[in-house]
Order: sequence, then C-alpha cells, then structure tokens
Amino acid sequence: MPQTPPNYIGRFAPSPTGPLHFGSLVAALASYLDAKANQGAWLVRIEDIDANRCKPEHASSILSMLEHYGLEWDGEVVYQTQRLPLYQQYLDALIQQKEVYWCECSRKKLRNYPGPYPGFCRDKNLPASASHAIRIKMPSCSTHFVDKCLGPVNLPPDEVVEDYIIKRRDGFFAYQLVVVIDDIEQSISHVVRGQDLISFTPRQCQLFELFGKSAPQYGHIPLVLDEYGNKLSKQTFAPAVTDDDKRQQLAQALTFLGLPPPKDIASSGCEQQLSWGIGLWPKEHHLIEHFRKNATAVRTNNL
Ligand SMILES: [Zn+2]
Repeated sequence: MPQTPPNYIGRFAPSPTGPLHFGSLVAALASYLDAKANQGAWLVRIEDIDANRCKPEHASSILSMLEHYGLEWDGEVVYQTQRLPLYQQYLDALIQQKEVYWCECSRKKLRNYPGPYPGFCRDKNLPASASHAIRIKMPSCSTHFVDKCLGPVNLPPDEVVEDYIIKRRDGFFAYQLVVVIDDIEQSISHVVRGQDLISFTPRQCQLFELFGKSAPQYGHIPLVLDEYGNKLSKQTFAPAVTDDDKRQQLAQALTFLGLPPPKDIASSGCEQQLSWGIGLWPKEHHLIEHFRKNATAVRTNNL
C-alpha cells in the first residue's frame, strides 16, 4: 500500500550550544505531544548553523537524552551544516528577485542606532561582496496572526519589522533564513516552540511568502523561567537534564505544560507518561483555552 504523508508534520529544532536543559525538554515535549496527539510526524533538526557557538558533542548529547526520555523522532535527523548549498540556492533566488541588498554598516556604526535597522544601505546598490552582510527588504507586513496556543496575537510593528540580515558578513547564513528553508524542505505544517521566538513569526511568514509557500501554523508555549525571571538557557547556566531522574523531570515537564500526571503515572516509565500525555493533550482551539487556564505555570522556581 502506498504510504500517504501525514497531514501534520511537526519538529523540534534545538541549537547544540549546550546539553538539553529543562526549558528545552519542555519545548521538545510540547511539540512532540502536539504532533502525536494529532497523529502527526515529529522530526528533529539540529540547528547548528552558527558554527562558532555550536558543538557536535552537544548535538549528540541532546539526541541521546531525547532517546532516554522516550521522545523518538520520525525519519533522519537533519543537520543545518550539511545543507549549505541548499541555503545558497534559496538565497540566489532572493537575489534574483531583488528582494535583498548588501550592507556595509559596521556593528560599531549601528550601535548608535538601537532598534530596527534604519535602512542606510537599502538604496546604495552596493555590489555583491563577501565582506558585506546581506539584508532582506522587509515591507511593512502584518504583525497580526492567530497562534495555536495563544489565540490572536498582535506584535508591535517597530519591534518586528526591519530589514534583517539573512547572511552575515562572516559568511554564515542567518538563523532567520535557514529556519524557513528547513521548514519548507521538511514540509513542516506545525511549529510549536517557546514564546521567546514569537517576535520572529511575522518575518518568517513573510519569507515563506517570498518563496511562494504557505507558512506553517505557529504555536508558542510559555517559557520556563528561573527564580530571577530569566529564561532557562545555556547563558543562565541552566542545569542539564540527566538520565538519572528522567521520570521525575518528565513529570515536571508535563506539569509545567498544565498536565500534572497522577502519582501512578508519574512513577511509571517515560513511555507511559508520554502516552498518558498524548491522550490528554488538548486539540485545536482547546489548546488556547488550556494555556489561558494554565498561564500561572509560566514561572517555575528551583528546577
Ligand atoms: Zn548598511
């Protein structure tokens, strides 16, 4: 029998700048539960485009931790650093469509202009040069969208609309560009991720449009914060999740997402906890209601 591709393809896309910590476990779990509750596929992509910050050993430790927690992905893991020619093809298309321009502004110069890039080089017609950054001409686009987890969202245009960099002067493709190309190439239909990425949504939607594709449906989940109100991250020295207390960590991650498992489930293995979570994960508009009710879960101390 021919296999039909699932209607729902989700993904977890960590940057291997450190091991998996509780905040990234929650993000992985939310995207996994949403995919599986909707009979979808769940892909994993290693966002290692920024070779200065990413390390292969972090990528392998993240993947093995996902496996330990029973978060099994579908298909092959994709690594951004193995797809550079693909990104260049897409960039060439934007260059041909004259949607981009070269920018010679130094970081030092721009330090005097906080906020969106003022467009100094937009009309300079600078020639293509490896020592210049490439920026996209971003028209005033809609900053309104309906979020799968938050409902209608309106972002302040002056914070999200700007001619942002898609290839850096050091030669690296920017995250903003490659994440959209990857989502197109992997036919991602749903993106469930942390609210720290919400302000990128309008520019990502615009890039999908420029490439003639429809954007996935986005859902943004609450961030896990430390006791000082900072997002858990490598920069705030969030401790890595380990294999030793995985049942407890997974139960805490489910609780953070508004699904506190009963004792017998919490003390069972990761697989049982995951299938319990898949069964109770709210579908469609119920997800918005669910996160509205569980908004108090945003701050979590002493994890
Ligand atoms: Zn410039």
